Amino acid sequence: MTAPLRLFNSLTRELETFEPIHEDEARVYSCGPTVYNYPHIGNMRAYVFADVLGRTLSWKGLQLTHVINITDVGHLTDDADAGEDKLEKAAAERAQSIWDIAKHYTEAYWADVRALNIRQPAQWTIATEFVPQMLEFAKSIADKHCYELEGGLYFDVSTVADYGRLARAVTDEGEGRIEAVEGKRNAADFAIWRKTPADETRQMEWDSPWGRGAPGWHLECSVMSGQILGFPFDIHTGGIDHREIHHPNEIAQNQAFCCTNGLDVPANSGARLWMHNNFLVERSGKMSKSAGEFLRLQLLIDKGYHPLAYRLMCLQAHYRSELEFSWEGLGAALTRLKRLVIAIEALKLRHEGKIEQPEEGWTQRGAHDEVSSMFLPLLAQFDEAVSEDLNTPVALTVLEELLSLKKMDAGDVLTAASAMDAVLGLGLLDLDRADLRVRPKDAAVSEAEIEDALARRKAARVEKDFVTSDAIRDELAAKGVEVMDGDALGWEWRVG
Ligand code: AMP
Ligand code: ZN
Repeated sequence: MTAPLRLFNSLTRELETFEPIHEDEARVYSCGPTVYNYPHIGNMRAYVFADVLGRTLSWKGLQLTHVINITDVGHLTDDADAGEDKLEKAAAERAQSIWDIAKHYTEAYWADVRALNIRQPAQWTIATEFVPQMLEFAKSIADKHCYELEGGLYFDVSTVADYGRLARAVTDEGEGRIEAVEGKRNAADFAIWRKTPADETRQMEWDSPWGRGAPGWHLECSVMSGQILGFPFDIHTGGIDHREIHHPNEIAQNQAFCCTNGLDVPANSGARLWMHNNFLVERSGKMSKSAGEFLRLQLLIDKGYHPLAYRLMCLQAHYRSELEFSWEGLGAALTRLKRLVIAIEALKLRHEGKIEQPEEGWTQRGAHDEVSSMFLPLLAQFDEAVSEDLNTPVALTVLEELLSLKKMDAGDVLTAASAMDAVLGLGLLDLDRADLRVRPKDAAVSEAEIEDALARRKAARVEKDFVTSDAIRDELAAKGVEVMDGDALGWEWRVG
């Protein structure tokens, strides 16, 4: 009854049946954020995707080891080989310590991770903590695959077979984004170690055989993934932009490393599957941290939206489709989330006692044993959906079908819903409908005041004192609170 897990491999541009490299295990590496600024909600889409992938692997009964890195050094203002280090630039502009900047934005990113119910990976790898390993890696490939220029140590992409096959579009001419560096052998060659220029000082720099300097961004991910997960590991993830430069460069380094170190790796790419989420876009185009309103998760929260409404918005689209952000879309996702939570609350009211939830989390096999046999066909449909390249839009409709069934034992439905939510990660059984009320940060009135006014209004209406009841309603309206008599979802009030 279990559907094979099929995942889209960007390397082959095909759906492939997932076969773990190590029996019953799945090892996954996700490129993490560059912590020079807050992540925008588009960045967070990448981690919601990686989380759903991880949850699906766990659902399939695989022992998951997930690693996400924190890039606190080396990512230049251009993904290719141009520009300044993003963190050095931010530190210089704000006259702040680079270490403080990295710490602040790493914590902000972790707060978003928690708010979106993204599971903690087995390990967060911090790039600056892996510099000795990066040096070892670079030394082992330097002779055969690299050459030194004024600026540092460069990787020669012509020394590995099939460079750029992941991107497919990359040519030796590059795409006009690759820095013209005097002496580069091929346009696509990139620095794996950048020497600090004589007239500059960097806050972050280390000694190396190629001079004092800092590692290249691509080197970091090759080293952290290979160190923790071992080459080859199962799946490497990132946003679709990484398919063009960052991941082809990682693959080139992995090939070089595996060849020099005698590792026999299928396709030599380091990971068997390379998976990429598509972009979250704004109507005006690509999401950015500088243009217009900076869409960070906290802005959504400040406007009164529960962060899990954004998670649901992500799940409503397939991860390989572009998703357009709009406030209307987010509002619709919030309403959908409310309906799910209201249904669960009604079931909870009918059900006495505990809801079955295995301590070590749900696997499909466990669910098959514990969920009432009446729901097994729905559970199978759910499994088919997530097993077909993480089709969360369909999986959500299966959950809704389950919750719409009438006259079922409430405990049984809750058990089945809990099993499905193990993959979706909406935390449905822990959410309270009051949590989902639209409640902007700058509201002029507190929740206690509103509840108090509504209680007085209710009492007045019981007394048929409509003058008082209308006056209370107007008073609330003046403070921006809309009283929602007769609302289809049974909501009493809303702010803003
Ligand atoms: P960065 O902090 O720039 O290294 O990006 C962190 C992650 O977010 C990477 O996996 C990017 O590919 C991904 N990403 C960047 N912009 C978007 C976007 N608009 N939508 C989805 N993913 C994105
Ligand atoms: Zn990376």
